[in-house]
Amino acid sequence: MKLTQQILFAFLFIFTTYTTTAQLQYLHCGRLIDGVSSQVREEVTIIVDGKTIREIRDGYTKAEDGATAIDLKNKTVLPGLMDMHVHIEGESNPNSYLDRFRLSDADVALRATVYARRTLMAGFTTVRDLGGSGVNVSLRNAINQGYVDGPRIFTAEKAIGTTGGHADPTNGARKGLMDYAGPEVGVINGPDEAWQAVRQRYQNGADLIKITATGGVLSLAKDGSNPQFTLEEASAIVQAAKDYGMTTAAHAHGPEGMKRAVLAGITSIEHGTMMTEEVMDLMKEKGTYFVPTISAGKFVAEKAKVEGYFPAIIVPKALAIGPQIQATFAKAYKKGVKIAFGTDSGVSPHGDNAKEFIYMTEAGMPPMDAIRSATLTSAELLGISDRLGSIEAGKLADIIAVKDNPLEKIETLLEVAFVMKEGKVYKE
Ligand SMILES: [Zn+2]
Repeated sequence: MKLTQQILFAFLFIFTTYTTTAQLQYLHCGRLIDGVSSQVREEVTIIVDGKTIREIRDGYTKAEDGATAIDLKNKTVLPGLMDMHVHIEGESNPNSYLDRFRLSDADVALRATVYARRTLMAGFTTVRDLGGSGVNVSLRNAINQGYVDGPRIFTAEKAIGTTGGHADPTNGARKGLMDYAGPEVGVINGPDEAWQAVRQRYQNGADLIKITATGGVLSLAKDGSNPQFTLEEASAIVQAAKDYGMTTAAHAHGPEGMKRAVLAGITSIEHGTMMTEEVMDLMKEKGTYFVPTISAGKFVAEKAKVEGYFPAIIVPKALAIGPQIQATFAKAYKKGVKIAFGTDSGVSPHGDNAKEFIYMTEAGMPPMDAIRSATLTSAELLGISDRLGSIEAGKLADIIAVKDNPLEKIETLLEVAFVMKEGKVYKE
């Protein structure tokens, strides 16, 4: 071999060795809650290779040359948190109802990037967006493509409701101001339109389907809990979603609409405010998840007392429904209904997602179970537990750290000190 060739090979060898060790990161963790074990492990090293967790070792292994060492020795390390109910496009405020007429898609998108970043920095590396205008699809793509920092988003695009129902965008507007709302914008009547609306969401880029099975608090309509889908309509939604490999979520406050959604085979019930024992039993039988959103209940009940914050038609609904969710959650948990973590952030402020942990533990759920609901259980709900939801070799490196041990002090989850998503450090 000529000398120049030898130099070239030597250079290539050093270069390739360097690039492979350079993508290795050694996380030295004082405490580790891996999301699978019920024990807290102490003094471990997580070796991250590119986007993936390669290995977890007892003790602190020294980072080899060229690899990065990250010191989390005085922290508790957990899997990236997951929130199964957010609306990343907006945030409620006294002008929310007028903003719908004022803001363009560009306005919405720019604000949404701020909410997305705040959510990620709060330790939530994955969220399920349960309905907006469709800007959420573009935001998901922009985050996946690296243009915007934010959590991994699974989006319902626009929620599906029935005429006058919780997801009908023309509620409260005078006639003629808006076009008739049909399946294209997620308003259906009858099973055929249900199929059309699901197929439209698929074409628009949705990952999953959300329906409003009952009335809701924040829509400009009188009833906050009446059934708004027939069993046939809800079943058509679920069947159509299955054809496209999509899961389904149902907003539901009242028991009748909730029961129909569960019977139809819905994947998750959101809020679940007036869930009866009968519905709980049915959910256990069907394996339906419950996403409580205690945060939203508390937020709307509090704001309903502020003069002028909500339009008058909203206030009695917020006062009646808001305070009930935490007690319902306590009953459902005791009964053994599967609980996945969700806040409805967008009603409450983005970035405050971890307050839900405090409300869940207040209601009697042990901290480890609350953490599990926001990691492995949420990953199972999304159908991604093979690659996310716990800190295990072979999974994607979504890893966060907090100062104290959350099993002793749950509030520590409100102050996330370190955030890694797919091996990239966003906060240190
Ligand atoms: Zn919601």
